[in-house]
Amino acid sequence: MLWCCPACHGNLQDETSHFACSACAKNFPIVCGVPDLRIQAAAWVDFENDRYRATIIENIVERCSVEDAIYDIFRNSRRFSHDKASFRVMQVYASMEMYSEQLDDWLLPALKAGPVLDLGCGPGLLSVAAAKRGKSIAGLDVSIEWLVVAKHLIGEHGDAPQLAAGLAEALPVKTDTLRTLVSLDVIEHVGDQQGYVNEIKRVLAPGGNFAISTPNRFSLSPEPHVGVWGVGFLPVPLQAPWVKFAGGVKYEFTRLLSVNETKSLFRKADLPKIKIEFPLISKKEIAIFSGAKARLARLYNRIIQKKLFQQLAPYVGAYYRVSGMNEPPKTAK
Ligand SMILES: [Zn+2]
Repeated sequence: MLWCCPACHGNLQDETSHFACSACAKNFPIVCGVPDLRIQAAAWVDFENDRYRATIIENIVERCSVEDAIYDIFRNSRRFSHDKASFRVMQVYASMEMYSEQLDDWLLPALKAGPVLDLGCGPGLLSVAAAKRGKSIAGLDVSIEWLVVAKHLIGEHGDAPQLAAGLAEALPVKTDTLRTLVSLDVIEHVGDQQGYVNEIKRVLAPGGNFAISTPNRFSLSPEPHVGVWGVGFLPVPLQAPWVKFAGGVKYEFTRLLSVNETKSLFRKADLPKIKIEFPLISKKEIAIFSGAKARLARLYNRIIQKKLFQQLAPYVGAYYRVSGMNEPPKTAK
């Protein structure tokens, strides 16, 4: 088993109804088949309510379908309108195809040797894409209701799901273990961003790879979570009041990072060599955009390939990828 105690990294004993740490004696419940290895910390999820919601989602999958369960999360947990919830369901299924393309591209290390972890796996789409190729990717997320969806989606594609609920700042994974860690669109929602990068460094085996993606703080497009322009150009304390004023919504547990802020986090975590790329927006994603948004995305793709743009990208680009390796310690010659 990949998982260990998130508090002390001791081994976990399977006691059927829960896991018990053999070192510090902490107990962790198992909810709908998913171990809840979260420790108490500030997060965008209310843990108690999330465990209750997980049982509802399990029930909807059994009575109806996985698709209905995904809709229910957007509609009743996130409280999106019917139209927005339906769009997000479509986006989930489109992402499955996109992840499959990315596994042939910059996420290729995730198909080589394991163990591989998708940190912040949500509905487990990367594991599904890997399962279709006969490969296994374990998934960790802060929300069990999403992990219940992941369990069913991965199971449908023939892989035994390896899933747990946990916090990015306190990973239930032993030190020096992972060959690859992938974490897509997660860092911007983590309460303690330095803690998150420090944990990536800790759990990667020497020579292990990491690949993360995140929306750019300094982007000319609207903030992708709330659809408000100019958020990232404001100092952090003014961002939430501006989003409330201009978009009428709360802006919590979202803090977009600039390229320089990301570089600084990785340098401080002793992962100094990182590669930063501003990729094209996937054709599959553009296919589900509305007319005006699709035209803008195609224009973006044309401009982004120009050499001049690559230099300006950190100040205008929509999102970026960060990848690298946990360099093995140098041995004395
Ligand atoms: Zn422990």
